[in-house]
Amino acid sequence: MRKLLLCLTIGLFTSQLFAQTREIAICGNEYSDGLNEQVSALLQANRTTGTTGVLYRIPVVFHVLTDQPSGVSNISDCIIQNQITILNNCFRRKAGTPNTNAAGADAEIEFYLARKNNSGAAISGINRINTANCNYTTVNSSTQISAIRNAVSASTNWPNNKYLNIFVLKTMPNSNRVRGQAWYGGGNMGVFVHYSYVGSKNSGCPNVSYLDITGFKAYDLGMTVVHEVGHYLNLLHTFDNCTPGDGCTDTPPVTGVPNPLCGTDNNTKGLCSGATSRQWQNYLDYTDDACMDRFTSCQVTRMRNVLTSNSQYTNIVTNNNFLATGGDIATSVRNVNGESATTLQVFPNPFNKEIQISFENKLQSVNYQIVTIFGQSVQTGQLTRTQKTLDLSKLAPGVYFIKANNQSVKIIKQ
Ligand SMILES: [Zn+2]
Repeated sequence: MRKLLLCLTIGLFTSQLFAQTREIAICGNEYSDGLNEQVSALLQANRTTGTTGVLYRIPVVFHVLTDQPSGVSNISDCIIQNQITILNNCFRRKAGTPNTNAAGADAEIEFYLARKNNSGAAISGINRINTANCNYTTVNSSTQISAIRNAVSASTNWPNNKYLNIFVLKTMPNSNRVRGQAWYGGGNMGVFVHYSYVGSKNSGCPNVSYLDITGFKAYDLGMTVVHEVGHYLNLLHTFDNCTPGDGCTDTPPVTGVPNPLCGTDNNTKGLCSGATSRQWQNYLDYTDDACMDRFTSCQVTRMRNVLTSNSQYTNIVTNNNFLATGGDIATSVRNVNGESATTLQVFPNPFNKEIQISFENKLQSVNYQIVTIFGQSVQTGQLTRTQKTLDLSKLAPGVYFIKANNQSVKIIKQ
């Protein structure tokens, strides 16, 4: 039945013809009017500071679908991990990467491969599916998208209110010129991407293959997924139209078919009234991967707003979901600047019912885990700045360890 669902929905794709000197690879996003209006309204309450100090982490599952498990389309764990790194470099505007332009903003959003499925079982965050005898020639048919999602049990094993699902396909529409696909505020869908646009040619990973669809090898640094995840978090193209534009005043309004060339010759392409320069460096334009280096402050606000205000997303970035999806407790005590508490202090120790935990004030919260001397986890949770008392009255007397802040402290219950 799964195979049938996968195979029966080969739809028609109407290719789009563009009249420019250089052929481009498009992404096939769709528009969600209701959600966009909701988030646009929230923009009226833009944050005024550059950063919020609150880090959001999104668990990701890569579903790799191919009928050639030994071929290059079955991309390696290495290149998938590299794509996670690229996402974090871009969304965090990481120092030492090409993504640090002063005009850009730190989204304070990070991504990690999920380590638990919806049933709590351990996973790698990479789900490989052999689709022998099936073919994917389009994913812009809602029927086919549903078939793919059903085939990987996305709704039951990987619900969208817990995971960002990224589907890696062997073929995409229009001879793979549609590199990726996402939906504005597409919490119901996730992201679809052609395998050859995952990760960077500089990753050092083996057996990496990038499609040279334009003759320029312009899309080989992992920016396709960054662009699509931007759509997933409710960003519009910077060039979609003059009015209302992309909902951001810090991206100059431009319109029309984009030209992927970057540099001064592209500054004036498609300018709308009032715009003096095109921001071709934006992740939501269509320039070459090597030209992209920024989300703007407004784009960051849109992304963070959708994570905290829309019911399709709000659970994803909760602490409970971090624990449920296997987020690394050792990394969870970092603050937004990557700083961790210096010393984890526990008192009293030995204890009877409760312990107090001390951690650095600038941390928003601390996730902890209590394990037995055999390593068995017996309790997990979160302590915030205002709640640092931990009730351990249900534990039997004995020796345990509390793990937090990448540290482990022995505690003794009397
Ligand atoms: Zn796009």
